[in-house]
Amino acid sequence: MDQLFARPQADPKHVLRDVFGYDAFRGQQEAVVRQVTEGGDAVVLFPTGAGKSLCYQIPAIARPGVGIVISPLIALMRDQVEALRQAGVNAAALNSSLSGAEASAVRDQLLSGELDLLYVAPERATTPGFIQLLERAEIALFAIDEAHCVSQWGHDFRPEYRALADFTAQFPGVPRVALTATADPMTRTDIIERLGLSDAEVFISSFDRPNIAYTIVERANAKTQLKSFLARHEGASGIVYCLSRAKVEATAEWLNAQGIRALPYHAGLAPDIRMANQDAFLKEDGLCLVATVAFGMGIDKPDVRYVAHLDLPATIEAYYQETGRAGRDGQPSDAWMCYGMADVVQRRRMIEEGNAPDAVKTIERRKLNALLGVCETADCRRKAILAHFGEDHAGNCGNCDTCLAPVETWDGTDAAIKALAAIYRTGQRFGAGHIVDVLTGKTTNKVTRFRHDEQPVFGAGRDINARTWHSVLRQLMAMGLIHTDHAGHGALYLDAEARAVFRNERQITFRKDAARQTTESLKRSRGPVDLSGEHQPVFEALRSERTRLAREQGVPPYVIFHDSTLKVMAVERPQSRDAMMNLPGVGQAKLDRYGDAFLAVLGQFAPG
Ligand code: ADP
Ligand code: ZN
Repeated sequence: MDQLFARPQADPKHVLRDVFGYDAFRGQQEAVVRQVTEGGDAVVLFPTGAGKSLCYQIPAIARPGVGIVISPLIALMRDQVEALRQAGVNAAALNSSLSGAEASAVRDQLLSGELDLLYVAPERATTPGFIQLLERAEIALFAIDEAHCVSQWGHDFRPEYRALADFTAQFPGVPRVALTATADPMTRTDIIERLGLSDAEVFISSFDRPNIAYTIVERANAKTQLKSFLARHEGASGIVYCLSRAKVEATAEWLNAQGIRALPYHAGLAPDIRMANQDAFLKEDGLCLVATVAFGMGIDKPDVRYVAHLDLPATIEAYYQETGRAGRDGQPSDAWMCYGMADVVQRRRMIEEGNAPDAVKTIERRKLNALLGVCETADCRRKAILAHFGEDHAGNCGNCDTCLAPVETWDGTDAAIKALAAIYRTGQRFGAGHIVDVLTGKTTNKVTRFRHDEQPVFGAGRDINARTWHSVLRQLMAMGLIHTDHAGHGALYLDAEARAVFRNERQITFRKDAARQTTESLKRSRGPVDLSGEHQPVFEALRSERTRLAREQGVPPYVIFHDSTLKVMAVERPQSRDAMMNLPGVGQAKLDRYGDAFLAVLGQFAPG
């Protein structure tokens, strides 16, 4: 084969500039690219949006031969391949969505050495047929994307990934790179072991996502709260997560009735509807996708401006993953959650009713409690989240609700003793609602029936309002001083640690749940596009041109240009192809294809 001579190794820096249109590598990208281009193995642990794709795409282009990319989802492959083709790269995918003729065309391209990158699903990659095919081709590298799928500790375990270690071992000398945005240390160790990469160089970067603003609010009226949150994101794309299918449907319907364009997504929808809704979300601007967690894995849409949670996620890991789908493009984005005690009870019930072995349930309970800690912290949310992943953050991030509107605290030792006493005196078998009724001295049927009005604690907490008592109970739970019952009915019981509080050996401080408006606390956080008035119309004009071009080809707008490129274009308003080529995200192929169309739009405005 003379491919080796036909395609000598290219300089990664030139590939970065000429193909992808970027001036400089980001963070550790360069080190990974060097390692893999030179033939070494790498494990890449970067958060979402850090730019993992270039870590294998550039070496695949720079090295002779084709880069084989293992990717778990067809939708993800399709987008990546489309984006690469737009940049002038010879990329293809082999998966079950291709016809026989299409698949055989891809095989021909592979064998003739035309391809730079080939995306394959793991179940196909490990078939004997595919292995034989690869033996006849020149391989630049193996990239294992979403590598956490190999671990059952990860959030998306896929048994097919387990065969990948043996598969790649059949091609000694071909560099391997495994990539994931998993922050969980247990999963990371597992990945390296399961993929046989213990000799690979490991590249880890901070998992902080500074462009994501975190906000967690106490649920009062979820719909109204959601609506005022969404009002800040008019015209932007975002995801609203709900726990159940029914709630997804109801929420999407309600949003549409409110004039907010929303589509549902959950595993119970017919596959074609699900696909169509996902497609609409990817291809249209300004759509709200209301979904269960069935949606999101492998969704590469860079301009998701917000992720809202109407229910408590399962763990901090899940919360981090789900919110992490916002702001891949590095632009300001919002993660917003609205939650209450009912969520905690529900999650607890899900754990107890699940089929997991006891040891796993113990971990799940602990993880739920850790998440509750993040929800109830009076300190920086970012710091609390990163601390869970073993990362030290100084706090005061300036981009979470507690930092933007610092939480006041109060000495709650007396209140804690009253609340604990109310739980204890009523037999540790009632939920938060009843306990609060007892504390505030409300004579309900239940109170009379159980003669709780005869208890000394009855009405002992009249000086504090019911809402604050609910907050006290949630915080006591986050502190691990009370728990909800195993059966999941929501009954509260005391932890052994509570004794120290009764004995006045432990001081308790609570956060004040002021009736803060999210809109106020996050005034600083910016809308979908951070452009001053004069640039906004230019951006809008460029955006409609992009929409037009995307529709013409049936591709998502962001594979043409990202928002970040359009923003710079709107501000700088280049008037020539050369000037256009200097913008980030404009490579040679895109300049050739789209340069003139966008220059024509810019021609309608005064130069920047
Ligand atoms: P990840 O896979 O880590 O979530 P991506 O590979 O999707 O991240 O990259 C996120 C965004 O960052 C993309 O829009 C990509 O084009 C952009 N990007 C990546 N590397 C660079 C770079 N060196 N300079 C500028 N933008 C970059
Ligand atoms: Zn903060």
